[in-house]
Amino acid sequence: MSTQPPLPSCPECGRRIAAWKKDHCVYCGTAFPPDFKQGFAEPEAVPVFGVLFYLVSSMLRRFSPLAASAVLAAGAAFLGYLLWNLQKIRRR
Ligand SMILES: [Zn+2]
Repeated sequence: MSTQPPLPSCPECGRRIAAWKKDHCVYCGTAFPPDFKQGFAEPEAVPVFGVLFYLVSSMLRRFSPLAASAVLAAGAAFLGYLLWNLQKIRRR
């Protein structure tokens, strides 16, 4: 089973970047250096969904932290399912 390509971690807080398209950390707001993403292959459609779930949960957090957590959990499960399917397709 092939492993997923590694994602860079935030130099400030050490968490993996969740929003590839952004040039700053979604967790602590630290701007990434210009060459930060060199050497990393951009993941395909998966981060788009990741950002989507993150945005939805961010909005929900204002109203209900529990609902935000539920959305994040559902998003993580969905992303796992998506990655699993992508790997199946690529192996053909
Ligand atoms: Zn950070």
